[in-house]
Amino acid sequence: MEQDWPMLTEKLPFWLEESRKIASAGKVASYIPELARAPQDALGICIAGRDGRQLTAGDDTLSFTLQSISKVFTLLLALMDRGESAVFSKVGMEPTGDNFNSMLKLELVEPGIPFNPLINAGAIVVSSLIRGATPAEKTDRILAFFRELAGDDTLAVNEAVFRSETATAHRNRSLAYFLKDNKVLEENDDVEKVLEVYFRHCAVEVNCRSLARMALVLSLGGKDPETGRELIPRRYVQIAKTFMVTCGMYNESGEFAIRVGVPAKSGVSGGILALVPGRCGVGIVGPALNRKGNSVAGMKLLETLSAAFDWSQF
Ligand code: GLN
Repeated sequence: MEQDWPMLTEKLPFWLEESRKIASAGKVASYIPELARAPQDALGICIAGRDGRQLTAGDDTLSFTLQSISKVFTLLLALMDRGESAVFSKVGMEPTGDNFNSMLKLELVEPGIPFNPLINAGAIVVSSLIRGATPAEKTDRILAFFRELAGDDTLAVNEAVFRSETATAHRNRSLAYFLKDNKVLEENDDVEKVLEVYFRHCAVEVNCRSLARMALVLSLGGKDPETGRELIPRRYVQIAKTFMVTCGMYNESGEFAIRVGVPAKSGVSGGILALVPGRCGVGIVGPALNRKGNSVAGMKLLETLSAAFDWSQF
């Protein structure tokens, strides 16, 4: 990585502007009304190296909400709270090939648990597993965890986005009630309270720098980049990274693995968190999405970087 830094510094602004050009081919998400306000042509990146260096380009200061990217980190917290066997008794380990908000397989396949923790149904179940007596207590624990990983004490929930999703999330509500009926959400899991936790962690606001720092911790196997202290057990990071490869880019994960080849997770806000194990963490935002729900320009930029620096893990 260190030897790549000069070329990266020189080329990154150019690559970013080249990638930005294709943003017009995508569409900003609008099913959560508040997200539709994001700028169509924005593209920003931060690359965080293990030596503490950060390189940024484009709209790296733009704020956006984590959305599905948060699912990686609530999974990690649930694993730390409950352990592997409890978590995987309620959520599977397989990609679906369906849209992230699909209901299809919940009914089609026995025993009715979500296929993986990165689709909406799976992440809703994971939210129910976070320790805490109330939604507020759970959200506080999630925020404290996210803040530590991002190295930013100011991370907070964007209330407007939270309210906007809460008011319009008919499909997520259906998924959650279905899970309750399947007894994957248990007797004492109040559906609306579980959803509140889920919507709140999706609405945590970041920028490319905080996202890159979160990615850097994963690239270091769960260690704090400054102190070397273990923030997440290595085994859980390994699980999260594997899900990111198999399911992180929704049902475009296979193509992404071929074109880019690193663990990554996207969100409908246009964010992408990616990491090169042992080398760096990457935070990207590009709100215009392709039909699969991934940032068009962000994917292109990652593909360029991966080819230039041989990032593929395969
Ligand atoms: N909060 C969003 C939802 O549940 C997250 C989805 C996403 O980013 N793909 O629809």
